[in-house]
Amino acid sequence: MHIASPVAALGTESAFAVLARAQALASSGRSVINLGIGQPDFPTPPHIVEAACRALELGHHGYTPANGIPALREAIAADAARRLGVEVDPGAVVVVPGGKVTMSFAMMILGCPGAEILYPDPGFPIYRSMIDFSGATGVGYPPGGRDGISFSADEVLGRITARTRLVVVNSPANPTGGVAERGELDRLVEGLERHPDVFVLSDEIYARLVFGPTPHASLLTAASLRDRLIVLDGLSKTYAMTGWRLGWGIWPGRLAEVATRLAVNIYSCVNAAAQHAGVAALTGPEEPVSRMVETFAERRDVIVEALNRLPGVRCARPDGAFYAFPDVTGTGFSARELQDRWLDEIGVATIAGPSFGAGGEGHVRFSYARSVNDVREAMRRIDAWLTRHVSPRRRAA
Ligand code: PLP
Repeated sequence: MHIASPVAALGTESAFAVLARAQALASSGRSVINLGIGQPDFPTPPHIVEAACRALELGHHGYTPANGIPALREAIAADAARRLGVEVDPGAVVVVPGGKVTMSFAMMILGCPGAEILYPDPGFPIYRSMIDFSGATGVGYPPGGRDGISFSADEVLGRITARTRLVVVNSPANPTGGVAERGELDRLVEGLERHPDVFVLSDEIYARLVFGPTPHASLLTAASLRDRLIVLDGLSKTYAMTGWRLGWGIWPGRLAEVATRLAVNIYSCVNAAAQHAGVAALTGPEEPVSRMVETFAERRDVIVEALNRLPGVRCARPDGAFYAFPDVTGTGFSARELQDRWLDEIGVATIAGPSFGAGGEGHVRFSYARSVNDVREAMRRIDAWLTRHVSPRRRAA
């Protein structure tokens, strides 16, 4: 069967394959702790669920405007004004079914054969997948910054050529948990002034999941970039709403209209009740989010300390998102072997670093969006496994 080449070029997100395997093992009666998938273990806060129910009761059952209901786009603009002190035109906002869609739209609009797109490697695997789909050439850049797991402007600026169309920046980052320093982002903006045709996709989906000392810095505050900046954000991670499929893009100039045309062609509009729930999330109480952030910070401390006690494992301290991305080369096993054997032999799901690009070699991603007890039990199982399988010479190293 012939599959058209852009579709044949698509990659995938291993977290979903690991999730399916973990669920199959669990339903056969095995005890499985899933530190693979990146989704909060909390339920969506009740006032948001109630808003969706109310929307259905009130008869919001039909299509909505393709770019989203005005109340939600206004709430998104007001949220940017409150959090970042930045004015956003609600007309520049396009509501989409999940943050991923803004990413795909950006690649479809700006990527084409002959163009180059810079993206973080290791990074969220869909960047590279959709770059390949678009026909553009993906050029990976490594993490950097003071902690070595966040962002270095030089790594990006040194890779820009006359063919570069788009630069993807992700902070806080998946899979490293690194948070870009304001100074590095300022240097990027300054450097990009010499490349006025290069667009930026700033993936800020983890913006509110930051545990200090580095606060989140949004590229939306960079006035000189506004006419070529696309901001990707959404509710999946912050409000524990991964299954609702609700995200948005803030687009420059006429690109909001182009993104809306893609929406009309592909899915018409986002689920109406979910959009009303989104308004409640952005305009309602902030305490549920603050509580989740505090809990993630506690878990971060627990997992980083435990990882650094494992033989052959070294982990930098991530300041955001809910991922730890330790170097496991000291174990003597490849990341893929650890991923497969930990899941099959001790029921701990993780994701091998190469799933996030070649730059992820020698690392494993742990999502600590699970209870502290689950995190501790997973670390206990891994410690026992490594003690059995890592040679005494390596353990002493
Ligand atoms: N961007 C990054 C960096 C992510 O890690 C994810 C999800 O894991 C997304 C975007 C997509 O989020 P959504 O589930 O809202 O599509």
